[in-house]
Amino acid sequence: MVALKSPREIETMRRSGKITSKVLADLMKAARPGMTTSELDGMAEKGIRELGGVPTFKGYHGFPASICASVDDEVVHGIPGPRVLRDGDLLSIDIGTTFEGYVSDSAATVPIGNVSQAAQRLMAVTQECLMIGIAQMQRGKRVGDIGAAVQAHAEKNGYGVVRELVGHGVGRAMHEEPQVPNYGKPGTGVELRPGLVLAIEPMITQGAHAVKILKDGWTVVTADGKLAAHFEHTIAVTDDGPKILTLRDFAEHPDADRYRPAAEAVA
Ligand code: MG
Ligand code: MG
Repeated sequence: MVALKSPREIETMRRSGKITSKVLADLMKAARPGMTTSELDGMAEKGIRELGGVPTFKGYHGFPASICASVDDEVVHGIPGPRVLRDGDLLSIDIGTTFEGYVSDSAATVPIGNVSQAAQRLMAVTQECLMIGIAQMQRGKRVGDIGAAVQAHAEKNGYGVVRELVGHGVGRAMHEEPQVPNYGKPGTGVELRPGLVLAIEPMITQGAHAVKILKDGWTVVTADGKLAAHFEHTIAVTDDGPKILTLRDFAEHPDADRYRPAAEAVA
């Protein structure tokens, strides 16, 4: 059931990932107080199509937009709309591109204007969780090693790990086997082999890990109303270790330092 990708397929996924990462970096830079989330969605669709891709999310199980835009206590799957971003908001942007039949999937949480220290810490730890999970993607390790590493780092910092939503295999479809929970036991689950491509996506909460779904049928929020953050990359297991296919090139941006995650050096 787990489809391994050939080097040629991984190269196509890397090209897909380049579109996703370029557009996500542009959205991270553009997002600011006074903008609506639907403006960001319009930018995303235009950017993906100009680079030769197709927005994977649009129409996926009826989802109406090219990105998910989730603010503050919204964890994931927020629908872009007329909501105006305000100073101090935490915005999680999730984006996917299909290019030559292959999907790349990535997400990041960005500060809108000036956010609280507590929010900054949550973002930093969530990003660390992602990179720590990716570091586990070595030949011979197992899916449970990824989740266990993510969970340990989140809980050590006093945060919750969402249980209801998980990372996943990715390739011709956005969601392939195996599921990749952000929690688990080391040494359990599917073995990691070269050619396996996974989307790792810790969803980390400031309070308890319980979530609920809003009446729109999509938006997942924390049950206690506290903040959440979400970072995601598409990564291939290779003989040389994990290769991040959606790594963002921050050098292009004048405010790179604000968004460059120190931990991305792991790649
Ligand atoms: Mg995603
Ligand atoms: Mg995903």
